[in-house]
Amino acid sequence: MRFQLQQVPVPRLAIIDASFTYSSPKSITAATGLDALTHAIEAYTSKRAFCLTDTLAISAVKRIMQYLPIAYKDGTNKKAREEMAIAAFEAGVCINNSSVTLVHGMSRPIGALFHVAHGLSNAMLLKECLTFALDGAYERFGLLGREIGAADKSDSDETAAKKFLQAVEKVCTACEVPTFTEYGIKKEDFYARIDKMSTDAMDSGSPSNTRKALTKEDLMEIYKKCFS
Ligand SMILES: [Zn+2]
Repeated sequence: MRFQLQQVPVPRLAIIDASFTYSSPKSITAATGLDALTHAIEAYTSKRAFCLTDTLAISAVKRIMQYLPIAYKDGTNKKAREEMAIAAFEAGVCINNSSVTLVHGMSRPIGALFHVAHGLSNAMLLKECLTFALDGAYERFGLLGREIGAADKSDSDETAAKKFLQAVEKVCTACEVPTFTEYGIKKEDFYARIDKMSTDAMDSGSPSNTRKALTKEDLMEIYKKCFS
């Protein structure tokens, strides 16, 4: 069968039915849910963010922070599965229009070289990547912190941003995200590929959407910190 590229476009119709996810195992629930969370956070803090994706990104972050731990703990919880399905759609619209940033840029090479599920490698990088990116967008990260109720109006943007990061770490912990070592990746193997992974990440263009100037050397440091 021959394909012509123009005849393989994106789907014309997507049916979002949360009932198809009830039997999804915990590992898939965690990886896909944390991928959607990363989409929403990155789109909201991307240089390419704009008002329409902002609304959807904030909505997705709120749903995921509340309902992903519930869906992970009890996959039969219909409300949690429905909220996650809506959030995944919202976050998908966001990345199609505002793109992703540092986490996705650094995550793809890990998937390619160490065969870690995409959403899981995002989650393994979230803490260190967001720690790096935070001071480039305190206002945006801080707003997310207030929106999810981790921070309030009396907090400065910086404090609210840090509280948001702590809340994200909590969700990763609730979803039992392993470290690279716990996943079975050897430090020497990982370190041997840091130079290539950092080059590939920079070449993807995604890191440059981060609201902070960064270099290949910054990415190399972040990869190393993920092992410390
Ligand atoms: Zn993704």
